[in-house]
Amino acid sequence: MHLVRVALDVPLPTLFDYRLEQSGRELIGARVVVPFGRGQRTGIVLEAGGEAQVPRHRIKRVAHVFADEPRLAPDVLQLMRFASRYYHYPMGQVVMGALPQALRRAHASREAMARVMLTPAALAADWSSLPSRAVARRRVLEYLRARGPSPPAVVRSLASTASRALRDLLAEGWIGVEEHVAPGFDECLTHEAVRGPALTADQAEAVEAIGATLDCFAAWLLLGVTGSGKTEVYLRLIERTLARGGQALILVPEINLTPQLEARLAGRFPGVLLAALHSGVPEAERLRRWRAAESGRAGVLVGTRLAVFTPLPRLALIVVDEEHDASLKQQEGLRYSARDLAVLRAKQCQVPVVLGSATPSLESYAKALAGRYRLTRLSGRVSSQLPSIRCVDTRAQRLRDGLSSELIAALTRGLASAEQSLVFINRRGFAPALLCFACGWSAPCPRCSARLVLHLHAARLRCHYCGHEEAVSQACPSCGNLDLTPAGHGTQRIEHALAQLFPAARILRIDRDTARRRKAFEQMRQRVQDHQIDILIGTQMLAKGHDFPRLTLVGVINADSALYSTDFRAAEKLFAQLTQVAGRAGRREAAGEVLIQTQFPDHPLYRAVQRQDYAAFAELALQERREAGFPPYAHQVLLRAEAPQREAVERFLGRAAQSGARLGFRVEVYDPVPSPVARVAGRERGHLLVQSASRSELQRFLDAWTPQLSGREAGRVRWSLDVDPLEL
Ligand code: ADP
Ligand code: ZN
Ligand code: ZN
Repeated sequence: MHLVRVALDVPLPTLFDYRLEQSGRELIGARVVVPFGRGQRTGIVLEAGGEAQVPRHRIKRVAHVFADEPRLAPDVLQLMRFASRYYHYPMGQVVMGALPQALRRAHASREAMARVMLTPAALAADWSSLPSRAVARRRVLEYLRARGPSPPAVVRSLASTASRALRDLLAEGWIGVEEHVAPGFDECLTHEAVRGPALTADQAEAVEAIGATLDCFAAWLLLGVTGSGKTEVYLRLIERTLARGGQALILVPEINLTPQLEARLAGRFPGVLLAALHSGVPEAERLRRWRAAESGRAGVLVGTRLAVFTPLPRLALIVVDEEHDASLKQQEGLRYSARDLAVLRAKQCQVPVVLGSATPSLESYAKALAGRYRLTRLSGRVSSQLPSIRCVDTRAQRLRDGLSSELIAALTRGLASAEQSLVFINRRGFAPALLCFACGWSAPCPRCSARLVLHLHAARLRCHYCGHEEAVSQACPSCGNLDLTPAGHGTQRIEHALAQLFPAARILRIDRDTARRRKAFEQMRQRVQDHQIDILIGTQMLAKGHDFPRLTLVGVINADSALYSTDFRAAEKLFAQLTQVAGRAGRREAAGEVLIQTQFPDHPLYRAVQRQDYAAFAELALQERREAGFPPYAHQVLLRAEAPQREAVERFLGRAAQSGARLGFRVEVYDPVPSPVARVAGRERGHLLVQSASRSELQRFLDAWTPQLSGREAGRVRWSLDVDPLEL
């Protein structure tokens, strides 16, 4: 009898023993189905041989081995092992969570990719010759004639006897099976390559420097102002990588950024199979693309954070675009940083990794200053000047629905000269509410410790934490005042105000409400690009990476709220956000102009933004972090807990703090506190911060501490660890 140890999607920090007739050594990385509890589960074999952890007679047999599927590659398994250890998350959940959904299920995967379709024989045949009782067969044929190639599972669901009909039709040669080929792939093989522009001196230098490290591990920080042509640098490096037969992995923070990049890649590299992996790709298609990467057929893989775990046998270059972006960190389950794992993977595979940004995270910049990352800069824009940035002092005037006279004047000028404008609303920790000025009441969520957000169009109040919704009250429930006032400047209120000010302007609002679906966002982006829009109103979503050629004016509303934040990263985030959003302005011939409305025009942060001097800002901010003992000069872990009762959370965190302090490591264990939004959907939330100057000491502490957390009271409390947290 041979033993294998299998990773399963179970919240336990262990692998599971099973037995097998053959030796399991060749099965490491293989997908298997095993009995578990009363049912069956799919897992991955991670170890073979060794001693069983449970009595022999209790070890069950592996039910099925997917023998002809490729094994999960050793380097990917190694990356997963690291992630499991470092983020203190069960290995089984790391492994299974990183696989496409189709591979987590206990069915064969091949079928998910196949399509059945009518053969020429079926199309030529006279269907009326079918016996009249062949109802299912007829239905299958009609369906395929109407819909074209379809997944067998769909066809089988057409009738109770459709499975048999499908089998019969296959046997008769009326139906064939094809491997599904994604649309886009064939097209990109046919058209002609778009030639890249001649590089600027900065770009050429960066490409040469990074290109000289294509054979080894090197972590590069590409610090390039907005519009400096970072993407062009990536493209040249990808070109070299492909020419040497390598694969490139490109990570982007946001699914909305992939279409632009995909289009540029497809134009530049016809004949190269591109695969994009993100949450918007349907499951069967995702598996197909994952396999294309795994088999080495895909030359370039573009994806959001989960793509970092994709097997790439010829991996030769990793790019992380907008490396500062918080979306690269997963905020639930395995709370990993895709950027940090990308650097680790590059090291394991001995390939270069390029982290690109106009406003790098202070963590990365500090590493570059310390010589651990190599730094290369693109200091000017390619084809235009950086925009001019000015603060508008809002203390001196009465705003008109949140808009200053300077901003209104600038918008008027923009309309007159047929340029596009963007009114940007910083909504971090800020949203429009319904207020009673008589008694101070503001509509609360009944299930959360949060205010409800006013949605003007729907005339509803909504909770952005739990989704609770109610009608707008006519009178204050607390004092009866009939004059409730909308407070704060939501996108909808600004839209309303702008529509009244500029009745002839074509105005488009892009926020989480209007761009909920990816398609909707893509369509809106296209309309902006095609200059069907004069004034764009938007939130965070728009600050990132987009290239709108006609956009010259950016007005920023509501930036100040970040200045009073208790989050020590607030300044860094605000600087990045303002720089990014300013970077949307004037990317072509026309000069860009940025107006920031603020009550603190002399604040050092706004001064730094105006000078567009990232290095100066970063050095100052790093000095403050060093003095305060914050990251990157310290390493943090957050223990988060939630339960229906606040006492349960407090008791759990209190004991955790005590047991942590008793362990005697060189770490600081802070007092438990309620989370900034302390109650969500009726559950109380709190956290406990642990910090250490030494990353390895903190890791040793976690190794000792984590097993103690699953004690008696843990049953009622849901808890999780967030290593290197970005948000409280
Ligand atoms: P970034 O990613 O740094 O914001 P992009 O790579 O998107 O900048 O480049 C901004 C614009 O400049 C794009 O439209 C791009 O096609 C163009 N561009 C980039 N490099 C060059 C170059 N060397 N010559 C001319 N145009 C360029
Ligand atoms: Zn709520
Ligand atoms: Zn009131």
